[in-house]
Amino acid sequence: MAMKLKNKTIIITGASSGIGAAAASLFAKSGANVVLGARREAQLEEIVGQIKHRNGHAVSLAGDVADEAYACALVQLAEKSFGGLDGAFNNAGFTGDMGSIEDMESDNWQKVIAVNLNSGFFAAKFQIPALRKRGGGSIVFTASFVGHTVGLPGMGAYAAAKSGLIGMTQVLAAEHGSENIRVNALLPGGTMTPMAGDDANFHEVIKGLHALKRMAEPTEIAAAAQFLLSDDASFVTGSAMLADGGNSISKF
Ligand code: NAD
Repeated sequence: MAMKLKNKTIIITGASSGIGAAAASLFAKSGANVVLGARREAQLEEIVGQIKHRNGHAVSLAGDVADEAYACALVQLAEKSFGGLDGAFNNAGFTGDMGSIEDMESDNWQKVIAVNLNSGFFAAKFQIPALRKRGGGSIVFTASFVGHTVGLPGMGAYAAAKSGLIGMTQVLAAEHGSENIRVNALLPGGTMTPMAGDDANFHEVIKGLHALKRMAEPTEIAAAAQFLLSDDASFVTGSAMLADGGNSISKF
């Protein structure tokens, strides 16, 4: 395996399952020191144990990404454990309750925006100064095709939050490009994670929306994130990068 992230210290949120867990494993195999965040402490500790068992470097801290203090604590943990921060995969997210805007409880709206969008603001606020101290780095936000190229009924709050991340990505990239800090959004297509549920009929419908006629494995999205975090993407910033299996261009 090529050591694409050798000696880079990278925060990964949503690391307890799905895309984030796949990224934790992949980035550690690629030489990164990983700092793992999510709410479930036991799952995080198990993943840290697996990485250490393979002689990788990992630490974790459980918390809620909608909490500003938690975003700060993850950066402090990276600096204390590994001497600094080189990148972040701000990936934690959830869909909230599905439902039309007119029927949506405002509590659901607020929660979806807090976890998917406010979390990005808090993350950047503390990660940018840490990256600056290292002379540069890379931030990746997990957005979605939902709210960018596809309007999926019932997902208004999620779409608003995810497309908000793309807008913030562009501004951050413009604000910090001259400091060698790159910022990109990654837009996965339907991916086989706990978020996608376990209803086989639903999976068949979702597969049909993609040009590739299948859903992604979490490792395929993790690989796209790794590209954006690595020096291979040294001239890529401000992008909304689709890794969506052709979901956005497929009509049949
Ligand atoms: P998942 O449910 O397996 O993982 C989500 C992760 O985020 C978990 O680790 C969960 O604990 C964490 N998380 C959720 N809310 C949190 C909070 N408040 N604080 C801390 N951690 C929290 O789902 P996934 O598919 O791996 O999702 C990862 C990202 O990919 C999400 O941002 C999601 O919106 C996005 N995404 C997923 C798909 C898909 O089809 N699975 C498609 C497009 C985008």
